[in-house]
Amino acid sequence: MNRQWLNQAIEKIEADYVRSADTHLILLPLACFPNIDIYLKDESTHPTGSLKHRLARSLFLYALCNGWIDQNTTIIESSSGSTAVSEAYFARLLGLKFIAVMAKTTAAEKIKQIEFYGGQCHLVENTSLIYQESAMLAAKLNGHYMDQFTYAERATDWRGNNNIATSIIEQMKKERFPEPSWVVMSPGTGGTSATIGRYLRYQNLATQLLVVDPTHSVFYDYYQSLNPALISKNASKIEGIGRPRVEPSFVPGVIDDMLKVPDAQSLAAMHWLTQQLGRKVGPSTGTNMVGVLEVAKRMQAAGQSGSIVTLICDSGERYLNTYYNCDWVNENIGLDLSYRDYLKTIS
Ligand SMILES: *Cc1c(COP(=O)(O)O)cnc(C)c1O
Repeated sequence: MNRQWLNQAIEKIEADYVRSADTHLILLPLACFPNIDIYLKDESTHPTGSLKHRLARSLFLYALCNGWIDQNTTIIESSSGSTAVSEAYFARLLGLKFIAVMAKTTAAEKIKQIEFYGGQCHLVENTSLIYQESAMLAAKLNGHYMDQFTYAERATDWRGNNNIATSIIEQMKKERFPEPSWVVMSPGTGGTSATIGRYLRYQNLATQLLVVDPTHSVFYDYYQSLNPALISKNASKIEGIGRPRVEPSFVPGVIDDMLKVPDAQSLAAMHWLTQQLGRKVGPSTGTNMVGVLEVAKRMQAAGQSGSIVTLICDSGERYLNTYYNCDWVNENIGLDLSYRDYLKTIS
């Protein structure tokens, strides 16, 4: 192990961090919930466009400090796209080769971005094949398989150190209800939910964590049954979230409640939020929003006041040909029209 190269690699990641700004926490005023304040942590503004920028930084630091990467290591990752974009950025920063293993249905815009950062895309027939293909490539090329689905929860420093949870709680300090009643998040690796849930407990906050799962995902059923062998035959249609198997980074013990969100509602909420904000958000942000509105409705019915925080996970600009294309939506998912009508009453 070349310690000099290792030190320089860590220095480069740290310097990149010092050059970076924190993401905004945006207030979403809704007159129909006068006693409930809703906030969106805007993770789309990271240099690589999603919350996976944080994860990629953590995964690289974890692998470097564990001695798993040196100057000749090819980095391999299984991804639905966002993580690969962010890892390609950090691999380029360190001068390392990077290969993303993804389903061939991955958004073309993400593939372009991975290639922009000098990464290669290795496309496979469907999502369930990405894990074994990544392990195989790593063995063949003598590379390192990052394996976000296993390491996301442990690579992130959940006690603090500027993770997303610390940032949210700090940014809420001067608000009307500084301690959120709920944080709402959708799981891909489950890592962000694990970090937030652990931090809320570690800080003795009363805040509860709601995790919202899309249609073709096993996380919701796993939360109910705790059966780790659950498998879904269909891949999730909401990019970035929902998995066909129980991922090791999904930590059920720190989740206070879960909600299953139909994909057609996620898309209706994505379009609704896009109108509210005046800019496009990604589909998993729509899933988050369905959860937020459900919690707001429940709180209002119970006569409670307070705040709710969720994430803008990425921007909608990546999905102009899919979730923002009417023909694609009608062919692949459909819009829940009665839910859309319900959303028209929310402003
Ligand atoms: C990864 C991802 C999520 C889920 O985050 P995890 O920390 O992996 O659970 C949500 N939305 C998008 C767009 C993502 O890329």
